[in-house]
Amino acid sequence: MSKIQAIRGMNDILPAETPTWQYIEQVTQGLVQSYGYREIRFPVLEQSQLFKRSIGEVTDIVEKEMYSFADRNGDELSLRPEGTAGCVRAAEQHGLLYNQQQRLWYRGPMFRHERPQKGRYRQFHQVGIESFGMAGPDIDAEIILISAALWRALGLSQSVRLEINNIGTAADRKAFGAALMTFLQQHEADLDDDSRRRLLSNPLRVLDSKVPATQALLVDAPSLSEFVSPDTTAHYDTLKQLLRANQVEFVENPRLVRGLDYYNNMVFEWITDELGAQGTVCAGGRYDSLVAQLGGRGTPAVGLAFGMERLVLLMEAAGRLPESVNQVLDVTVLASDGVDTEQMLTLAEQLRASLPGVRIMTLCGGGKFNSQLKKAYNSGARVAVIVDPAPGTDEQTVRLRHLDDEGRTESIAVSGIVGALTRVLETVPATA
Ligand code: ATP
Ligand code: MG
Repeated sequence: MSKIQAIRGMNDILPAETPTWQYIEQVTQGLVQSYGYREIRFPVLEQSQLFKRSIGEVTDIVEKEMYSFADRNGDELSLRPEGTAGCVRAAEQHGLLYNQQQRLWYRGPMFRHERPQKGRYRQFHQVGIESFGMAGPDIDAEIILISAALWRALGLSQSVRLEINNIGTAADRKAFGAALMTFLQQHEADLDDDSRRRLLSNPLRVLDSKVPATQALLVDAPSLSEFVSPDTTAHYDTLKQLLRANQVEFVENPRLVRGLDYYNNMVFEWITDELGAQGTVCAGGRYDSLVAQLGGRGTPAVGLAFGMERLVLLMEAAGRLPESVNQVLDVTVLASDGVDTEQMLTLAEQLRASLPGVRIMTLCGGGKFNSQLKKAYNSGARVAVIVDPAPGTDEQTVRLRHLDDEGRTESIAVSGIVGALTRVLETVPATA
């Protein structure tokens, strides 16, 4: 019988890779908490309508990337392609947005039916940060500063650059859309099929086209910047000032529009040149209409999301993973020939109770001492505790063996083992 394989574009993350993920997750969690953000968790499955209404009917995501199906009751459901819509739905449903400011974050899998390639998958993982109830450029700056701090913490500051743009109000974009449509109609024959279709329904989406010929043609298109209203310009100018004051470098990209319809005013992307075509590692912006669009009271909001897979790839490409990430074990406990397993298991339990945080693995499964010792060396631990047969009336001792080339071994009374391990583990390089 043939073996069942994973679904294309949906990756298993194996034990050799999870330490990298956990490292990035821990750094991220510590960082967002340091800015006062609280975690929110919401389902991976929602009513399809939620995404259609928020992301926009005429977007790549809704038109062709969503995993949608009717469940057994005939309800139209979709696997979430991004987190903002579900975050807003959950926060609104539970009254978190009513006359309140909220700083929220989440992480988890997202699903899009895209063509799988390096950095682009059908199940991928995002970390998202969203803030609600604050309208000023200060919170926009905070969101961007958090991302800048994350790159610093991960050693990636030199690997990414920030692009920002002011996309104005919905009315500004409508006026611009009309001008853009007129321009595009003159070049209709040269457009790719998707863009030609969108010409009438959602002309701004054409700006986001990844087809090179379409992009080339857009060089002469009218610019959104000519249409944005003074209010949003003042907001945007202050944001730029706040970024400069905090030494965050940026480039203004007047053609940056993002692939989702809910953004207004400020949008941004963090881009790297180290991952080929999948260069956007993090993206976000302001979305002041979304809460009302989903049935709530008008609530200003701004947020970002970054893709974990691209960040993992970038950490590897940039060689930024600390050595200690792969050190996942400190101690192995093994038995000499003739020692019963009860003694070994019990001692290991006592050590774990006395040494919280120290990673201790018991070599279960039996076998000759020499092969056990080999396993200890292969385990990645720094030291082995070898349990010897009880000596009768004298105090029980164990051997503490350094799992390096020298293999220095000390004999220690059981009563002194916690102290000895503490000393040994302190003298080795700090672990993550
Ligand atoms: P792209 O332009 O590369 O398609 P996007 O604009 O569709 O990205 P967003 O919807 O803004 O991306 O999602 C935010 C981040 O999530 C992206 O910057 C990227 O890091 C990550 N991401 C998006 N789609 C995928 C995917 N299919 N596979 C892996 N990561 C993804
Ligand atoms: Mg996309």
